[in-house]
Formats: sequence, C-alpha cells, structure tokens
Amino acid sequence: MIDKTTIDRIQDTAQILEVVSDFVTLKKRGVNYLGLCPFHDDRTPSFSVSPSKNICKCFSCGEGGTAVHFIMKHEQLSYYEALKYLAKKYNIEVHEREMTDEEKVLESERESMFIINEYARTYFKNLLHEHPEGKSVGLTYFKERGFRDDIISKFELGYSLEERNAFSSEALKRGYKKDFLVKTGLAGGGENNSSLYDRFRGRVIFPVHTLSGKVVAFGGRILRNSDKLAKYINSPESDIYSKSRELYGLFFAKKAIVKADSCFLVEGYTDVLSMHQAGIENVVSSSGTALTAGQIRLIRRFSPNMTVLYDGDAAGITAALRGIDLLLEEGLNVKVVLLPKGEDPDSFARKQNAESFNKYIKDKEVDFIRFKTQLLLNETKDDPVKRAGLISNIVQSIALIPDGIKRSVYVKDSANLLEINEKLLIQEVNKIRMRSYDQKQRPIRGFSPESGKDNSIVESEDNAVNIPAKRRKSRIENYERQIIRYIVRYGMKPIFQVFEKQKIKKGKHAEEIDVLVEEGSTVIEFVHSDLERDNIKVTNPLYEHIFEEAYRESANSNFEPAKYFMSHSDSNISKLAIEMLSDRYQLSKIHAKSLGEDLEGNKSRLLEENLLEVLVPRVTTELKNAYIMQQIALLMKKAKEAEKNNDFETTLKLLEEKKKLEEIKKILAKILGEQVIIKY
Ligand SMILES: [Zn+2]
Repeated sequence: MIDKTTIDRIQDTAQILEVVSDFVTLKKRGVNYLGLCPFHDDRTPSFSVSPSKNICKCFSCGEGGTAVHFIMKHEQLSYYEALKYLAKKYNIEVHEREMTDEEKVLESERESMFIINEYARTYFKNLLHEHPEGKSVGLTYFKERGFRDDIISKFELGYSLEERNAFSSEALKRGYKKDFLVKTGLAGGGENNSSLYDRFRGRVIFPVHTLSGKVVAFGGRILRNSDKLAKYINSPESDIYSKSRELYGLFFAKKAIVKADSCFLVEGYTDVLSMHQAGIENVVSSSGTALTAGQIRLIRRFSPNMTVLYDGDAAGITAALRGIDLLLEEGLNVKVVLLPKGEDPDSFARKQNAESFNKYIKDKEVDFIRFKTQLLLNETKDDPVKRAGLISNIVQSIALIPDGIKRSVYVKDSANLLEINEKLLIQEVNKIRMRSYDQKQRPIRGFSPESGKDNSIVESEDNAVNIPAKRRKSRIENYERQIIRYIVRYGMKPIFQVFEKQKIKKGKHAEEIDVLVEEGSTVIEFVHSDLERDNIKVTNPLYEHIFEEAYRESANSNFEPAKYFMSHSDSNISKLAIEMLSDRYQLSKIHAKSLGEDLEGNKSRLLEENLLEVLVPRVTTELKNAYIMQQIALLMKKAKEAEKNNDFETTLKLLEEKKKLEEIKKILAKILGEQVIIKY
C-alpha cells in the first residue's frame, strides 16, 4: 500500500502531456493538445490534453481524467498499479507498508496474472542465458539464426526446458498459485489434484508486451522436429490477454512509427527481430493470424500509413489480400511490397542494412488497390467472365475506404488500369456502399432500442404517477447534478459574507472602509444546510456520495474540492468531476446564453464565480420545486385511485395535502420568479 504523501507527490509530478504522449500522438491546438482517442474508434481527433489543468478528456466518448486515470484505463491497471507505474516513470521513491493478509487476498486476479507473467519472463530469460540446456538448445538456435545479443536481450527472449513441469513446480515452490498458473496458460492440467504441465516446454520464448511494456502473453517455437506439435504456440486468451488487442512488437516500435509516420506489417516474431537488427524499428507482427479491427486501430493511433511486406512467392498472396480490406475499411493508407523471390522479411532483412532495406521499399512500394488490380489483371487476361469478377472484386475493396476523396482517386486510377468507364465504376462503388449502409442501419428485429429492457424498468413509486418516470427523475437529477457541479468547482468559496462600512481612525483622520462582519458560509455549507432544513436527500447515489464526502472533507479548511475529486480513487467520481471541471461542459445552456462564453470559457467562469450568491440558492430552490411537483403528481394519482374505490375520506385527505404543497409551490415559484428578474 502506498502512503498518502507519496500518492500526492505522484499526482503532482506526473505531467499529463508526457504520460499520454507515450501512447497517443498529440498535436498542439491552442493551449491544449489533440489526438485520436485511444478509448473509442476515433477517426477525427477528439482526445484533448490540457497541460495547464493536468487532465485529459475525450469529447466524444467522455473517457479521461488525471494521469493516474489515464494509465488505469489505458493499461487496464488498478489504482495501485497505476500509481506504481507513474512512480517508476518519474523516479519517485514509493513508501509502502506491508500489505495485510486480507489485502493480499483482495488483490485482483489480473494483478496476480501479471505478476506471474513477470516471473515467467525472468525465469525463461535466465534459463536461456544460464542453464546448460537453455544455452545449448535455445541460445544456440537464436545465434544460428544470426540474432545479436542486443536483440536477444531487447526482446527478452527466453527458453523453457524440455522437462514436463520444470517451470510450474519451480513457480509453485516460490509460492505462486496454481490457479493463476493455469489462468495465464503458462501451465495446463491440474484438475482433480493432477500435476501441472508446462505449456511451453522445449520451446524458445517470445514474450508479448503491451504498449507500456508489461508482458501479457508468450509465444513459443518448438525446436525439435515433430509432426504432432505445432511449430508455434501462444498463450491462450485470458482476463489479461486478448489476441485481437495486441500486436507483437508494437511496444518496441511505437516511437519509430511516429517518427517515420509509417508502420511495416509482417507475419512472424522473427521477422520483427530481424528488421530491428537491420535498424528498421517501425515494424509490428500479426503473429501469423488475420489482423483484427482492434489491432488496426492500435496502429492507427501512431500513424495512418501501413506497408505490408509479402514473401516473394505469389502462392499465398491472393489469400492474404483479403485481410487487407479490413485495413482499408479502418481508413489506413495501405501499401504493399513484394520481397524478392524466396525471401521473407526475416531472411531479407538479415542481408540488408537500414539504408538498403529502405531503398528497396521505396523502389518497390505499390499502393494496395493498384497492386491488387495489377495482380488480378494478370490472372484474368483475356477472359471476359473472370474479368467481370475482377472488377467487382476491386470495387468491393474501394467501397470500403471511408474517405470520399481517396475513394474517387482510386476509382480514377482503377478505371485507367482496367480500361473501363469511370462513371460505371463510381456507380458500382456507390451501390455497394448503399447496401452496406442499409445493413448497418437496420435494427435486428425484436431488439430495437425502444423495446429494450432498460426502458421498462421504473421504480414502483414512479409507476403510480402520470408523468413518465424517466423524465421526472431526470429533472430532479439534473438539478442535483448542477449542485454537485457547484460543489466540485466552488465548494469552499464563501458566499453570503456581510460587509459593513465602518469608520476607522487613522491618526487624526477617520477613514471609511468595508469590514467583514459576518463570515457567511461556504458553498458546501450552504447547500448542505439548505437541503437538510427541508429534509431533501440527493437521490442519485453517485452525486450523494460526492455531496456527503465534500461535506465531511470541508471540515478541513485546506480542502480543495476540485483537486480532491479530480484525483479520487473511485474512477466514476473522478470522471464526473473532470467533466464538471472541463470548460466544454461548463455552463448549462441558459447560463451560457445569458453570460456569453469565450472559446476557453474564461469569461463565463469569471462571471459565474462572482454570481454564486445568486446561482447556488437558485438551483437548490429549483430542486425543491421539482420535488414538490413530484409529490403533487403522486398525491393526484393516489387521490384518483381512492376516488375510484369510493373512498372519499381518503380522497379528501389527499387533496388537502395536495393543496398545502401547492401553497409551497407558489412560494417557491415566487422566489424563483424574483431570481429570474435578477437576470444574470
Ligand atoms: Zn474517446
């Protein structure tokens, strides 16, 4: 557990711009920085980083927060892990106290899995360099393949012994839990007290790193000849590893990808290694499986330009072409390079240095659509039936490209190559786009959002009232939200201070100055006592939590609500606080209209801050008013029911109550009316 002082130091030291830049390419835009959001499928940069506020925020999906939140979300870490990550990045010494047994149990499974992977990585690495079998089998293999020591250690390559359970028994001996050995896929078996066996036994090991360098999985290549065993195996999917979200080599490539503004795609682990060895570092591998949209988006965050390297022999090319359509669909600019006959990226890179390799790429790089057209054209020479198929095949690919301008360039280019009318091609492309648009729009029958389950869930009390429960609830919640917003932004600001002109003697003269005669109360104090007086509770649990916590904390005069809630360990609270603190969501529509707002929202903030004495009481009154209206509606409903049952006594009683409430409502309306006249 990390002590409070260290947490504060980490929060204060971590620069949001530096932290986010490790994962997202950012461009300066005014005082802020903008990039593609890593948390949703973002095509136009909507992820904003504010160095001055030290927070980040996506204006599209709403994700964001402090550096700690960003790391938690992006790296899927716990609060504790994220703090440790940042402490390491900024060389902050972490003061920890020993965890209690209870806390150890509470540690998340994910953390335990990462810890086991860390252990396994070191274990395999040590075997490769220190164990006789590791050296004679594993290290010899890498050396024979021509890999230098620096590459072997950079990629943390390792070796797993032939023995059935060498790794698992060592790990168990060291106290790692059997459960997590199985869950990470490092070991198999273990059911009904049977012994474990090592998944990667007798293989050289390629650790798979996340963007931040943590090990999520392993790849293993078998070295002895065996027909029964797969040449390569990988860790199975688990709570921490999803194949479709990781790319081998991206951790080592991300900086180079940004620098070169392009990324090479190859198939295997050793292709990546050899290219690094040749000095080409902007390269990732799909590990032999088809690319997924998630992987492509990972790359796109660093560069939109992708060059796919193919083995020289044409055999697999046509099949591989299909995978590229997905790249187009995700908006990447795709180029293709055919390597010389008989070469794969691994073998080819080993014969080159960075300069000659890049020169070859530059000379041979072909735009994908052009490449595909040319390739198919050669295959279908003089065969009209096949030719028609070819055209539809090309059109399919072009239709996937999201950008209209790019599409029309390709249409023109392909029309030339295929020697057909451009207009015809445009028509075909549009037909396909219309069709797929229709498919995406049509909701699956019986599962439209309107008939969804969520809407039918209403609180039983609300059911009794005519006004749709959702709308009424949202009215009350809306005011609650505004109150929370004032608390988060201005909670400790004093309001209702009373000054008096007083004559103060100064030497022989008397001077008239303003003297504070009444302390007033802070925004938090005012709201709390105002609502408590009328016995009104905040209904939204999240708002209620903030409301009560703010009141508790405000006993300390150094309490800074904005800072406090922004870096709250509960990400729901901090997310909300950040939303309320970011200028984009600063003012309700009415406020913004009457106050005017400059681009940075500064002017309105200034005004708002000076008007708290008006704004804060107004919103608590609005909330009370909304409550009264809810109560009145409820009484009406009950009265009607009683009337139906010929229970006139009850009906009258209810109507009496309703009358009282309507009196209160009138008073509130008057207060609100007067406040409107102030016209802020
Ligand atoms: Zn987003």
